[in-house]
Amino acid sequence: MKKIVVIGSSNVDTTLHVKDFPKPGETINALDVTTAGGGKGANQAIAAAKSGAETYFISRVGEDSAGGFITHQLKSYGVDATYVQTTMGSKTGHAYITLSEAGQNSIVIDHGANYELTVEDVKAASDLIQNWDCVIAQFETPIEVTLAAFKMAKKAGKITILNPAPAIDKIPAKLLGYTDIITPNETESAKITGIPIKNKSTLATNAEKLHLLGIKNVVITYGDKGAYVSTPDVEELVPAYKVEAADTTGAGDTFIGYLASNLNSDLTNFTEAAKTASRASSIAVQRLGAQPSIPTAKEVRDAMEEDE
Ligand code: ATP
Repeated sequence: MKKIVVIGSSNVDTTLHVKDFPKPGETINALDVTTAGGGKGANQAIAAAKSGAETYFISRVGEDSAGGFITHQLKSYGVDATYVQTTMGSKTGHAYITLSEAGQNSIVIDHGANYELTVEDVKAASDLIQNWDCVIAQFETPIEVTLAAFKMAKKAGKITILNPAPAIDKIPAKLLGYTDIITPNETESAKITGIPIKNKSTLATNAEKLHLLGIKNVVITYGDKGAYVSTPDVEELVPAYKVEAADTTGAGDTFIGYLASNLNSDLTNFTEAAKTASRASSIAVQRLGAQPSIPTAKEVRDAMEEDE
C-alpha cells in the first residue's frame, strides 16, 4: 500500500450557489448555501486516502468548532490526523466559494490557522517524512515549512510533489530543487513560466520551461481538456473524460491525490497514473462539494472497467 504524507491547509468551505456570478456593484440572491470540509491540503489528503493510500496529514486548525469538524471529516475519510494540531486563540481557515449554475467557481480565502503551521510541526513528523513514500504540499501554508519538509524527504530519498497552488509570484529556487514532480493547473503554470496556455504547443513550452527550472516531472492539469504529462519518458496530453460538470471545486486536488497514490516508486507509469487520476476527477466534478465529491478507489475502478 502506498504511504503518503500531505502537508497543507484545512478549511471550511462555504459555497454560495448562484445562477451567474454577480457583477461588481450588483446584489443577487443565492439559490442555496452549503458547508463542507475543504482546503487544498485536506482535499488532497482525503483523495489519497480514498484512493487507497495510507495517508498522514500535517496541518493546523483553529480553536473553534470548525477545527473539530475538519478533524472529524479527515478521520471519517480514513486520513490519520495525528499531526493536525490546534492553534490556541486562532480560527480555522475558511474558503468562501461562489458557484455558478454552469459549474464554474470563484474563491476568496481567509487563511486563519493555516499560516501558523511551523517548521517545528514538520520536525515533529520527521520519522514519517523520512520513511514514507512521498510528500505532497501546496502554497496555502508557509513556504518555509514546505521547504523544510521537502529537504528532509529528499535527504531520505523520498518523492516530493509540489502543487504550486494558489499561484504565487516567485517560487524559491531551493524549493524547486527539492521537487520531483510539479502539478500546476494552466493558470499556475503560466504564472511561473510567463507563457499563457492556449493549446497543446503552449502546454509543451510551459513544460519545457518548468524542466529548465530543474524539475524532471511536470504534470499541467488543463481542466476539461485533460492533463499534460512531460517526464523523461513521456510527453503527452492525457485527455479528460467527457462528463457533465456540476462543480469543479476540488478537481485538481482529486487528481493529485490519485496521481500520487497510483504512481510507481520508480515513476515509470505516469500515463497510467494520470489516466486513473483523470477518471477520478471526472467523477468528482459531477458531484457537489470538494471532499464529499472525491470518489473511492472502487468507484474509479468500476468506472474504468465500464469504460473498456
Ligand atoms: P480546482 O482548483 O477546481 O480544484 P484545478 O484548476 O486545480 O481544479 P483542473 O485543471 O481544472 O484543476 O482539473 C484537474 C483535472 O480534473 C483535469 O486534468 C481533468 O482530468 C479533470 N477535470 C477537470 N474539469 C473537468 C471536467 N469539466 N470534465 C472532466 N474532467 C475534468
